[in-house]
Amino acid sequence: MLVTGGSRGIGAATARLAAARGYAVAVNYARDAAAARQVVNAITGSGGRALAIQADVADEAQVVAMFARVDDELGPLSVLVNNAGVVDRRARVAEMGAARLRRMFDINVVGSFLCAREALLRMSTRDGAGRGAGYGQGGCIVNVSSAAARLGSPGQYVDYAAAKAAIDTFTLGLAREVAGEGVRVNAVRPGIVDTEIHASGGEPDRVELSKGAIPMQRGGRAEEIAEAIIWLASEAASYSTGAVLDATGGR
Ligand code: NAP
Repeated sequence: MLVTGGSRGIGAATARLAAARGYAVAVNYARDAAAARQVVNAITGSGGRALAIQADVADEAQVVAMFARVDDELGPLSVLVNNAGVVDRRARVAEMGAARLRRMFDINVVGSFLCAREALLRMSTRDGAGRGAGYGQGGCIVNVSSAAARLGSPGQYVDYAAAKAAIDTFTLGLAREVAGEGVRVNAVRPGIVDTEIHASGGEPDRVELSKGAIPMQRGGRAEEIAEAIIWLASEAASYSTGAVLDATGGR
């Protein structure tokens, strides 16, 4: 399994849970090598197999090189978790410039497409078989969307919400495109989850401050989202494709 943005937050919880379920895990990160090393050490320390790989998912050459390393060091990929994602500072649409918008869509949307392409070239019974033994045998892609996709995040980050809405439609379209090729494609839409992403958007207390607006009256834990991701990736979800699963505490 390859987890993009597997070094922190929801991705790290997913990598750890995947390893506990027996997957060999590639832990992708962009900048924070120490965090990725920590996840890998925790997995290998418990007897699992893991590998940290630096790559910016928005950079096509880096994505291609990352998948080549997975081939070389872990073997044929069976699951891709498109988890890497970013938010930006609170802003109104009238204040958003092209540089902000390009970063938002490059990382959250283009990155997910590029990683899915490389995964399909390995998993799809149509496109992967020529690559050698163990390839072209099907697999799963789980995209990480957000409840923002259906809430719109007005006055906060409509750009992020729109990028995540693109992920929902990407999930639906790709699922139908490759349903006959042994590949299932699903998404999880987290609500407000306790990770460092809120601090990166300038709102470190967002989980605490939002509690009252969440029907369950609390933020989610990264481990709770990881459970949904790993379920969709597993054989237990064998008849689900094109599904978008909310994990939002009712929000
Ligand atoms: P996080 O704690 O900020 O972690 C983000 C992860 O993505 C880190 O491992 C980071 O690596 C990596 N990353 C960032 N930019 C990257 C890039 N260009 N290429 C490769 N990796 C990159 O975020 P999180 O809260 O766990 O969020 C994970 C996913 O869940 C995102 O898609 C996010 O939109 C979604 N989500 C989160 C929430 C929430 O409340 N937390 C709610 C809904 C949806 P480095 O540290 O090396 O940069």
